[in-house]
Amino acid sequence: MIVLFDIDGTLIDPKGAGTRSLNLCFQHVYGRPGAADGVMASGQTDAFLFPAIAARLGIPWEPDRVYPAYLSVLGEELRRGPARVLPGAEALCAALAARGDLSVGLQTGNIRAAAEMKLTYAGLAEHFRFGGFGEDGPDRGDLVRAAIARAARPGVPVVVVGDAPNDVLAARAAGARAVAVATGWHPRAELEALGADVVLPDLTDTAACLHAMGL
Ligand SMILES: [Mg+2]
Repeated sequence: MIVLFDIDGTLIDPKGAGTRSLNLCFQHVYGRPGAADGVMASGQTDAFLFPAIAARLGIPWEPDRVYPAYLSVLGEELRRGPARVLPGAEALCAALAARGDLSVGLQTGNIRAAAEMKLTYAGLAEHFRFGGFGEDGPDRGDLVRAAIARAARPGVPVVVVGDAPNDVLAARAAGARAVAVATGWHPRAELEALGADVVLPDLTDTAACLHAMGL
């Protein structure tokens, strides 16, 4: 089985570090404060979010300028107040690793370097050897498909774990089992209505999480 985790709202609570970093990076590069104010980033990919903010500001999308500035600011933000690991995430990752027969990866809208930075500060990086990332496309389905391809285990069942409607939709589009967790910004009813196979309140009950995944 392939198990793919979202990061923000699922494994960690970034405590606003992403939005603050977005704001600071557009301020540093273009002198435009508050660029990300009012933007709903949950479930979106960086390949969608950053160009959309640039377009809103009426400036060209320049990833070679913006991404390095973003990573620099994000590193400072995480050093100042590291993201909180959500309850149960560490134990669940350890339980999955202990089985030895699973390919456990990421499906995250964060660009790869940002994902690695967040997981390193959270102490979870060792659990994830591959994934689909923000660079893989503006649609979340793009990065789920990329993650499945990188697992290189054709025909094996796939489980997608995430907190946002887009996680559920991307899972369904990829023919994967959708396990939603209501620790992000989205209520259980919303996730259920979109067709999540299971909605967990959080990841604290490891046995319940494994059962939800079909393990
Ligand atoms: Mg999320």
